[in-house]
Amino acid sequence: MKLLDVINPATEELITQLPIDDGAAVAIKAQKARNAQAFRALVQAQLDDLAKIMTQETGKPLGHSRNELNGFLGRVDFFLSEAEGILKIETVFNQDGMCEQIQHIPLGLIGNISAWNYPWFVGGNVFVPGLLMGNAILYKPSEFAAMSGLAMGRLLHEAGIPADVFATLIGAADTGNALLAQQLDGMFFTGSLATGQHIANVMGPRMTKLQLELGGKDPTYVCADADPIAAAQSLADGAMYNAGQSCCSVERIYVHASIHDQFVQALVDTVRTFKMGDPMAADTYLGPLTRAPQIKVLEDQIADAKAKGARCLLGGQRSKGPMGGKGHWFEATVFDNVNHSMALMRDESFGPIIGIQKVSDDAEAVRLMNDTPYGLTAGVYTPNEQHARDVLSQVRAGTVYWNCCDRVSPRLPWSGYGHSGVGLTLSREGLATFTRPKAWHLRSN
Ligand code: NAD
Repeated sequence: MKLLDVINPATEELITQLPIDDGAAVAIKAQKARNAQAFRALVQAQLDDLAKIMTQETGKPLGHSRNELNGFLGRVDFFLSEAEGILKIETVFNQDGMCEQIQHIPLGLIGNISAWNYPWFVGGNVFVPGLLMGNAILYKPSEFAAMSGLAMGRLLHEAGIPADVFATLIGAADTGNALLAQQLDGMFFTGSLATGQHIANVMGPRMTKLQLELGGKDPTYVCADADPIAAAQSLADGAMYNAGQSCCSVERIYVHASIHDQFVQALVDTVRTFKMGDPMAADTYLGPLTRAPQIKVLEDQIADAKAKGARCLLGGQRSKGPMGGKGHWFEATVFDNVNHSMALMRDESFGPIIGIQKVSDDAEAVRLMNDTPYGLTAGVYTPNEQHARDVLSQVRAGTVYWNCCDRVSPRLPWSGYGHSGVGLTLSREGLATFTRPKAWHLRSN
């Protein structure tokens, strides 16, 4: 390998020698970047078909599937713009013949076991930066999003990623366990707490890089000075979008007693406008639940809440749905008069259901927001930014929102406290996490 001498022009001292990118190395780097661009172009060109595949297998309304794919393209753009910067060797100290550098090298072979609720988002958060950082990937999509997983592999291969560098594995828990049994250099998981705990048990003794993106029970506090109508409209969407099957769905609302009634009425009025329908229809907002067993989870939470005094304001049961009695449909459901003795306010619901609890001040709201083993996101609605900052700085959550909710940005790290997981994706750190930092101490005299 040829080396480039880096010479201090003031002293003619040799500072360091860097490996030179010859024609072949430049071509490889260019090809990698080109592959990623080509992949992006293929996803964009086939977006409608990919959205239909996702809608068919998950029941996600077609408009929501399109939104996800468009959002995915934005994430690809972000990763492409930042990847080269992460891979550059960084000199952090250079004095008196001593040079210190940080180099990010690929982990190697990484496994990704993924969830079904946002297959392109959660899969792409791993395979796009993972590939750009130079890793090979074994990707197991959820068994409820397997066709989307195969489409990701097909388009990556069409774009020029070698078949051996990215492979899709089809199956459920057994296939996931078979993947865990391999010699991996990193395991990245997105899914439920129970499966995450199982994976942590298996991987723990092996001292392999492990990231777990798990569930949430995300709270929002609507302050006394908030606009109750605007907050209700925003939060109705945050709770019901994708039938509530988002890791960062709003799952608990605390509202100041002084605006409780107005807020609750506006929330119910908004949720009533959400049209349940054929997921393929353009005007459908509420699709079916992707997994049938979730109906029982919701029914149990509702029975428990009612037995303990909760008031059902809308919905509250499974629905025949719009497909001739077939499918796993559940009514959009709103409860108030709830409290933390109820599973509805403690356990992840992952469905179109929301509980609203009255609070008398900030201290009570903060205490209740933190009364959870999870900590993915939390929000506050108030016109006063400083008030929101004061409250949110007391809440244990990886992501906090002022006057918004259920939002993910590629530029910001996505991580959780406690049972919401370990590690992070997205942001510049979400590229570096697919590498091992190597520390270079170079003495040239
Ligand atoms: P899940 O845990 O049931 O399944 C996730 C993946 O694990 C699937 O691919 C599944 O086949 C596999 N799996 C299941 N059992 C396994 C086992 N014993 N061994 C190995 N692999 C196994 O979760 P899900 O229903 O697909 O996803 C919903 C959950 O994911 C919710 O809790 C949601 O909050 C969470 N989620 C979190 C994020 C986040 O970014 N934090 C994003 C999306 C979803």
